[in-house]
Amino acid sequence: PTDINKLADEYMRLAYYGLRAKDKSFNAELITDFDENLPKANVLTQEIGRVLLNLFTNAFYATHQMQKKLGETYKPMVSVKTLSKDKAIEIAVKDNGIGIPTAIKDKIMQPFFTTKPSGEGTGLGLSLSYDIVVKGHGGDIKIETKEGEGSTFFISIPLNQSIK
Ligand code: ADP
Ligand code: MG
Repeated sequence: PTDINKLADEYMRLAYYGLRAKDKSFNAELITDFDENLPKANVLTQEIGRVLLNLFTNAFYATHQMQKKLGETYKPMVSVKTLSKDKAIEIAVKDNGIGIPTAIKDKIMQPFFTTKPSGEGTGLGLSLSYDIVVKGHGGDIKIETKEGEGSTFFISIPLNQSIK
């Protein structure tokens, strides 16, 4: 049984300090809104950890890109919210980064699709996340995004599933 709040908190910080190690001038606001009564989840902890790490890495990257565009007036922000509803756990990772253009929104889950320069992205994060969350755990991934405003990724994981 996994404490998703703890996992999300750890990986959010790991992703943030990973980016700051490359750019010391990068400062983001990290917001957490954890459901204190969140049930422990019967998941493959390492795999869900990889999903979270990729979501947070993508989110901070998107705000970093936005900062390069807008400069000092812009305040990078990444938030995470957890809640349990309908016998599932929902995790929402939100950023105020560059957002995803409508033209590529349908492609981002495909293996090897990336808009990042080589060395910065493989394009495997979201396709792997799809395999882990949807195929492996019987869950769901939804995306709300607007170019120039930011993105929210919603991960839902059923509480009583059989893990494949
Ligand atoms: P990678 O991070 O290696 O590029 P992913 O599968 O994690 O691969 O993401 C694929 C693409 O989806 C990214 O290159 C980017 O274009 C887009 N993307 C994913 N998350 C975000 C986000 N939070 N904000 C903006 N674009 C995103
Ligand atoms: Mg990624």
